[in-house]
Amino acid sequence: MASTEPFSVVIVGGGLVGSLAAVFCAKRGWKVDLYELRKDPREDASQSGRSINLALSVRGISALRAAGVEEKILNNMIPMKGRMIHTRDGKLSSQPYGIFGECINSVDRMLMNKHLLDSVETLPNVKLHFEHDLKQCDFDARKAVFARKDGSSITVHADLIIGADGAHSRTRQQLMRRTRVNFSQSYIDHGYVELTIPPTQDGDYAMDAHHLHIWPRQTFMMIALPNLDKSFTVTLFMPWSKFEAIKTEEDLVTFFEETFPDSVPLMGQKLLVQEYFKNSKGSLIQIKARPYHFRDRVVVIGDAAHAMVPFYGQGMNCGMEDCIVLESILTKHCGLPSSGRRPSADTLAAALEEYTNTRNPDVEAMCDLAMYNYIEMRSSVTKAGYIFRKTVEGW
Ligand code: FAD
Repeated sequence: MASTEPFSVVIVGGGLVGSLAAVFCAKRGWKVDLYELRKDPREDASQSGRSINLALSVRGISALRAAGVEEKILNNMIPMKGRMIHTRDGKLSSQPYGIFGECINSVDRMLMNKHLLDSVETLPNVKLHFEHDLKQCDFDARKAVFARKDGSSITVHADLIIGADGAHSRTRQQLMRRTRVNFSQSYIDHGYVELTIPPTQDGDYAMDAHHLHIWPRQTFMMIALPNLDKSFTVTLFMPWSKFEAIKTEEDLVTFFEETFPDSVPLMGQKLLVQEYFKNSKGSLIQIKARPYHFRDRVVVIGDAAHAMVPFYGQGMNCGMEDCIVLESILTKHCGLPSSGRRPSADTLAAALEEYTNTRNPDVEAMCDLAMYNYIEMRSSVTKAGYIFRKTVEGW
């Protein structure tokens, strides 16, 4: 006899992708429980995490629109219509992204995460559980075990588990124990550190706010994206050997004055030194995996399925796109969200199989493009082709 219980889904990870996936699942009428390792970011001002701001593109915006949660984000983003190249001698040149005003948009990661969690919380069939760490899954028994902060643990039932728990995903590890997953992980030999260009004394942006600023230096680069408070978040990407060579304040200031001279007065030497030595240095990982699912029991999305280096600005955008691709395949196999139908094991398994088959080649292509785009951003943008196109096409 068919179950009359609502279909239950456990989402692991309440980051940008997990919280968006929760909205889509809840709109299907499913009972959604979202478990997040960290504290609720809306109550914990100390959390900032990786990359303060991100470039949101059409991919991500389409997914936010499809979930009906785009408005606040569209009202709080800064369009960047092109790259602004900073040469070593301080010259600037603008390279528009398109001739029809195409742009990418700078958004605050935390603002977006908090807004998505707020949106999820308004849906009656979703429960959020913070400070819950996924430890183990038994996909055959449809169970997941989470450790709580107080040392206790709980075992929960899930008709379907969605792993959106990031590049070091435990859901993916558990999937790999249960089925044959082809998997590769690679770190590139470059790391990053985030710095700040504060607003000017008049409270304005220190550079043009409608560009993504790049200081391309052939084998490495620095970039800056605008924030709503008129500051810029600057990210310096370079080989670990260069980070290791900077040991003292003097080393740092000499390096910046020789390499990115126009940025030093904008940042201020004191803030530069303070932030460079205080802020953690991040590593850059690429993950590829296939399949993303096991039968009708589990599927991984976002960085848990395909972490990519950030140079194409598409990691989060692709993760959000995963949600709409999965939603459209679920609709094809299991009916419209409004049907309220409980999917059968066979239809759901067929949907997840199709999801792996259609999504995997696309996101792996994005991983490769992201890797290639580091060369584009740090070096090719300075080559004659760009200047030629700029002159001929009147950019
Ligand atoms: P995450 O953001 O990693 O979220 C995973 C969540 O799962 C976290 O909240 C974590 O606490 C939780 N979690 C982990 N383990 C467990 C567990 N065991 N139990 C419960 N919860 C768990 N992308 C773009 O599109 N544009 C950009 O401009 C861009 N810039 C970037 C710049 C940098 C420097 C970096 C490093 C990345 C950038 N990205 C960008 C990529 C983007 O950050 C990621 O693709 C995006 O954060 C992935 O979202 P996610 O929700 O899949 O994973």
